[in-house]
Amino acid sequence: MNSIRPLIAGNWKMFKTCREAADTMRELLKLCREAPSDLDIMVAPPFTSLATVADIIKDSRIALGAQNVFWKSEGAYTGEISPPMLVASGCRYVIIGHSERRQYFHETDEAINRKIKAAVNHDLIPIFCIGETERQRESGETFSVLDKQVQKGLEGLSSDDLLHAVIAYEPIWAIGTGKTATSETAQEVHHHIRSWIEKRFGSRLAKSIRILYGGSVKPNNIKELMSMNDINGALVGGASLDASTFFDIISYDN
Ligand code: PEP
Repeated sequence: MNSIRPLIAGNWKMFKTCREAADTMRELLKLCREAPSDLDIMVAPPFTSLATVADIIKDSRIALGAQNVFWKSEGAYTGEISPPMLVASGCRYVIIGHSERRQYFHETDEAINRKIKAAVNHDLIPIFCIGETERQRESGETFSVLDKQVQKGLEGLSSDDLLHAVIAYEPIWAIGTGKTATSETAQEVHHHIRSWIEKRFGSRLAKSIRILYGGSVKPNNIKELMSMNDINGALVGGASLDASTFFDIISYDN
């Protein structure tokens, strides 16, 4: 699947004030003048920095993403942010169903499904995160857990709805732990997910959908991961916070 254009996406989580986000983005923007042209780059800062960062990266090749979204367009939902608000702030992507949201904010597969539908209805590209816990992997449940997450998360969506959608496989035991899945382990799972997509949505979508790997991606492991057939990019947490480290990941092939 190496013909799929890769995406290297940074998730800044709950790090950086608006000023810090602006400084990091200015530095990244400068570095990215030298970035390889055959991949897409996205950064998802906290909501409070979206407008500032959008202004800095406008007319550049770096796309803006959000880390979460609510499924309603507006209303009395204190603390939530809607798809039209993200679009108006310059977002092209939105991360949905990150394991930290599932774990700490009790996001269910049903809520994630509503969010993905709302995103595609507003022309936002969802980065739909799935992944198993260490216990689930050790007890041989990885594929059944992932199958349930994709089946419920994508329920009611068509292959046309998902034409630009992105899936991120993020084993929970690898997020922020420094433990990366080996490239072979990741490839095995990515291949399984792509086959599931083919069975459910057909070969056109299976051949074009981007499946990112996430979980302690660093400059020293990205090249090996990206050499795998079914890995089409990375969702990078900790290592995206520093512009030059993230740039080293983006330029993995140089
Ligand atoms: C993430 O937040 O999606 C992630 C993969 O984090 P890290 O790269 O820090 O493991």
